Amino acid sequence: MFNGFEQARLFIQAQSVRMIDLIFSDLWGRWHHVSIPASQFTESLMRDGVGFDGSSVGLKSVKSGDMVLIPDLATGFMDPFWDTPTLGFICSAYEADTKAPFPVDPRNIAIRAEDYLRETGIADASIWGPEYEFYVFDKVSYENGVNSASYRVDSREADWHSGEGGHGHFIPLHGGYHAMAPKDQLYNLRAEMCAEMERMGVDVKYHHHEVGGPGQCEIETPLFPLLKAGDATQIVKYVVKMVAHRRGQTATFMPKPLYGEAGSGMHFHQMLMKGGKNLFYDEKGYGKMSQEALWYIGGILAHGPALLALTNPSTNSYRRLVPGFEAPISAFFSLGNRSAAIRVPKYADQPETARFEFRPPDATCNVYLALAAQLLAGIDGIQKKMDPTALGFGPIDQNIFGWSEEQRKKIKSLPTSLTEACDALENDMDFLLAGGAFERLQLEDYLKHLRAQEAAVRNRPHPYEMALYFEA
Ligand code: GLU
Ligand code: MG
Ligand code: MG
Repeated sequence: MFNGFEQARLFIQAQSVRMIDLIFSDLWGRWHHVSIPASQFTESLMRDGVGFDGSSVGLKSVKSGDMVLIPDLATGFMDPFWDTPTLGFICSAYEADTKAPFPVDPRNIAIRAEDYLRETGIADASIWGPEYEFYVFDKVSYENGVNSASYRVDSREADWHSGEGGHGHFIPLHGGYHAMAPKDQLYNLRAEMCAEMERMGVDVKYHHHEVGGPGQCEIETPLFPLLKAGDATQIVKYVVKMVAHRRGQTATFMPKPLYGEAGSGMHFHQMLMKGGKNLFYDEKGYGKMSQEALWYIGGILAHGPALLALTNPSTNSYRRLVPGFEAPISAFFSLGNRSAAIRVPKYADQPETARFEFRPPDATCNVYLALAAQLLAGIDGIQKKMDPTALGFGPIDQNIFGWSEEQRKKIKSLPTSLTEACDALENDMDFLLAGGAFERLQLEDYLKHLRAQEAAVRNRPHPYEMALYFEA
């Protein structure tokens, strides 16, 4: 929003801004904030920053833990959710003494990965379009898992058949795609979300009801350069949750809140730009994809299992990656095919639009780490000329959900659990260390966190075990 300090200062004066909100992401991609009165928005803030304890939010490093937050002026936005006029800034973390970028800050990792892309000479910039799917609920109870959102599918079907409650205009299971009112009861909510996003500097491409009925929504933005795509994702997630709160509802990006109903993904459309041209376009290539695009795809699929520890880092992620819900389960690429890990959209066939989407990711990822990791896998693919077809990754232009188990065995499957993804990352880390983007020790620490979460879920009696075993 601002080109420099002076422009921001004048805006603060003109708009009577009273608070400055300094916002940063923890290891898990959750936002945190610390707020200062607008009177403290000085040049020394831009130089010295505001100190914080990164180790409390998972940002531990081999070096000292003392870090400061310095606002990125370009990210400034008026935060519509506070009563006191508040100007928010997304911050990066810096070493308290040297003011060098703090190496384990996710946003800094994303910046370094993009710098590395330029250093390799492969391209000048990477361009990204994450897609945002989420569910809106009236109420969620966590109590023992009983009556929680996870069990609403069954009760909804019961409502439907008994004719109890409701107004007759139901969205049936899996029947919500682009639903129209009166079945689509969430238009006002989504429109309000999109309006806030645009006011906060994030353009919107479109919004609609998604397949998961009733309550699954999707909002898409145009494609953005890497850092802007990361920041925009954080803003989208914030706005979606806050607008839902404002209207007495609740929104979740968790990948599989409802058993038996569509999950929520966060597919990443991506392309590389060089000399003002889209490096992924070739008129004669498969799906108009260039040789570089195919090698990049080879890198993504070859590193896919390890990548998923960063793009799908939750136990819930793997409840979404199951057959039958437009979520991918196998590592192959394809034209227009939604059962593929990589889909080359048929409509994106122009020099400006040619791209592919990586479909496994979901919003439990830290978006900055997910962006960096995908880019590094793609770069490795280009450097090593990884031909996806020679590596057995397709293309396959059929819906493999219709295939038999035997047929499906011929294609490589994606990890089916967080543990599998963690094991894969443990054995395939080097591509992430290129250009000094990730640190090995940080990744090892990250894996420890993930394995602890996996154990915490595994060791708890599951509500469905009551149905299976209570009578034993
Ligand atoms: N909801 C699906 C998923 O879990 C994706 C549907 C779509 O292709 O937009 O990835
Ligand atoms: Mg969708
Ligand atoms: Mg998509």
